[in-house]
Amino acid sequence: MSPAVRVFLGLGANLGDRRATLRAAVLRLREVVTDLRVSSLYESKAWGVTDQPPFLNAVARGETALTPLALLDAIQEIEHDLGRVRKQHWGPRVIDIDILLYGTERIDQPRLVVPHPYMTQRSFVLRPLADLAAGLTLPDGSLVGELLTTVAQDDLRRIAGPQWADRTD
Ligand code: ATP
Ligand code: CA
Ligand code: CA
Repeated sequence: MSPAVRVFLGLGANLGDRRATLRAAVLRLREVVTDLRVSSLYESKAWGVTDQPPFLNAVARGETALTPLALLDAIQEIEHDLGRVRKQHWGPRVIDIDILLYGTERIDQPRLVVPHPYMTQRSFVLRPLADLAAGLTLPDGSLVGELLTTVAQDDLRRIAGPQWADRTD
């Protein structure tokens, strides 16, 4: 088996029972990502297309033996199984799972760009990412904790600690 690579994944949901869907996504992700840990749970105003319900967001961290594209395939299968329908770009969705970081790799392929191109502009990514790894350095040398100070956080609210993924309330 290939050696495990540390990955960070961004999770979001703004349709249906958002927390239940995020929990289901975490359960499924544990099949392909070991030692999975999640950040606190945040609510954020929709980004890009703002006329839609607020999102719940979190970041997950773990180790995977899958290649980047195999991980993307697994993620898209999970999204599909949880009811994701691709309509409007940046539109409402029951679940969204993005690959933020795959080890220290930079990937620029038609299906996959890593680090995720918008991650450094999004407080709903940087804040939960900093929960898990404030001292993490991105492939370009920037520090997550410092990037976090460059984005406005007024549209972001922490609504639960990292236990959100385990509990059923
Ligand atoms: P954004 O990428 O700006 O957050 P989005 O999550 O709404 O937008 P999607 O509709 O979920 O975008 O995905 C569109 C395509 O993006 C996917 O089919 C996938 O091939 C591609 N993609 C490129 N880079 C990544 C990445 N790092 N993680 C997940 N998907 C990616
Ligand atoms: Ca996304
Ligand atoms: Ca996506």
